[in-house]
Amino acid sequence: MGLRLFFGIPLPHRQAEIIAAWRDSLTLRGRPVAASNLHLTLAFLGDQPADRLAELSEIASRIEASQFSLTLDRLTISHHGLLALGPASPPSALLDLESQLREGLLACGYPLDTREFWPHVTLARRCLIRPGLSAPSYACQIERFALYQSINDGRGMAYIPLLHWLLGRREED
Ligand code: ATP
Ligand code: MG
Repeated sequence: MGLRLFFGIPLPHRQAEIIAAWRDSLTLRGRPVAASNLHLTLAFLGDQPADRLAELSEIASRIEASQFSLTLDRLTISHHGLLALGPASPPSALLDLESQLREGLLACGYPLDTREFWPHVTLARRCLIRPGLSAPSYACQIERFALYQSINDGRGMAYIPLLHWLLGRREED
């Protein structure tokens, strides 16, 4: 049996709670993503045999990318009601992390989505669309990324971090 896997960045716990509370205050109904599940997807792998975990771990551990500050300040709500918050200007360290990961995965034959990387945190699905919602601005310090298993236990989704990697400290820190 395969595992449904993806690489992503967990939102730091405190910011995740604050963002989820703000999202709840919007009362857009729909299916909210639990605070503990808030993440930014870097690469979606889909179903993979468990014996590829060692190779995935190896790919991730070769990445050399720095910690960065992520400002979430662009709110989008699609016509399907997907509510997402992302950076208006993605930091170069985030783009660097995603492209190193993409290259490593493609070199090992993983079929990745060919669409352009859209860094975002999904806050809720199937929301009621309310035009003119203004975006807040939340700054998070990003120090790690993770390989997640996505599980639907019948009551809802859970994203379980299986492995994680620390990003490098910046020279000015
Ligand atoms: P569900 O699909 O049941 O609504 P979900 O989308 O939360 O739940 P997954 O489909 O397992 O759960 O996705 C896990 C993460 O990967 C989510 O952040 C999702 O947006 C992202 N993702 C899923 N499919 C793709 C894809 N084809 N390309 C890029 N990201 C994807
Ligand atoms: Mg999905």
